[in-house]
Amino acid sequence: MTHAYDTLASEWLSALATELAGARELRRALHLEPRVSGDERETTDLVAKAMELDMERTADTGGIGRVGPSAGLAIGLRGELDALPVTEATGLGWSATNGAMHACGHDVHLAALAAVVRAAKHLELPYGLVPVLQPREEAYPSGARDIVREGRLEQYGIAHMIGAHVHPGVPVGSVATGAGFVNAAAGELDIRVSGRGGHGAYPHQGADVATAVAQIVTGLPETLRRNSDPMAPAVVSVGTITVGSGASNVLPGEGRVFATIRTTSSAEGRRLAQVLASFAEHQALAFGCTAELTHTEGEPELANDAMLAAELDSVLESLGLGHTEPMRSLGADDFSFFSEAVPSVMCFVGVLGDGVSLHDPTFLPDEDAIERVAKTLIAGYLAGARRIDAEQA
Ligand SMILES: [Zn+2]
Repeated sequence: MTHAYDTLASEWLSALATELAGARELRRALHLEPRVSGDERETTDLVAKAMELDMERTADTGGIGRVGPSAGLAIGLRGELDALPVTEATGLGWSATNGAMHACGHDVHLAALAAVVRAAKHLELPYGLVPVLQPREEAYPSGARDIVREGRLEQYGIAHMIGAHVHPGVPVGSVATGAGFVNAAAGELDIRVSGRGGHGAYPHQGADVATAVAQIVTGLPETLRRNSDPMAPAVVSVGTITVGSGASNVLPGEGRVFATIRTTSSAEGRRLAQVLASFAEHQALAFGCTAELTHTEGEPELANDAMLAAELDSVLESLGLGHTEPMRSLGADDFSFFSEAVPSVMCFVGVLGDGVSLHDPTFLPDEDAIERVAKTLIAGYLAGARRIDAEQA
């Protein structure tokens, strides 16, 4: 780093150290009172209060503010607000009791972001720092999409966005960044099957929707596999099948197959959805039924900017964090709406979690994860500032 950024980094880290005790308390308070997607207003207010920052409401229940220079370019740091509809099973004294749970670590992200913002107030930042408290990461419609559509990136001069997510699959002390594809383009396939139905003893007089549904469910993955480039991963998984009303001897007249589709690009998702629609229609036809597929697009693919990722790796190292292999998967994160709009990096911060996966009712990242996420966000800001310098030189 240049000398000026070296000084800024060390001042920021020592200011951060004094904020960590408060951040741990904030994390516990957030964990105790989780709010699910669309209901995050109180979480936003709690974090804004902890930051001692005036924030504008965005995407209905979210918040956005700014520290550092009040005009000009800025770096956006994202914190997701929502918890999951999961009943907590950690056995903690500060467990949530309202049927929701921060089982994805968003409480850690928010506490880290609050500490970073509080620490930054004592510093002379070269560019704006914009904390983006984003609602509805876990559910559609995406909160990130709404923030982008509201024009907040332009309004706040955001040149780069940084996201940091805890991940038990990354070694503790390391951060996974990586250029290019990180997460999938995701969407939902809703297939409605209809037929005449009838009496189970007389299948020749009716049309058997249950059989058509079964064939569609087992045929979807193979149809996708035979129609996609083996070098470009794609997956379709059925999560819900609905057919029949409980009787053994009635051929049902209606059925539904509800699936998720993941691809390496939105365009590929649209193409494969058409292929699968044609398959479902023809498969249903073979049993004298009809099928109609509705494709709802979710997030676009998430790709990290190569220059910003390289810059971030070098800053992470200077802050004492290691960088490791990228976490590429067909998971999806709506941070991709930000990275589609401006060069951005989504990174994954290693946490202790006893091999328990995200969204598990016992998922509990270690308390020191707050500090590692905070340092990653600081590194992200510094990397973004260096990229802006380079772009303006
Ligand atoms: Zn998450």
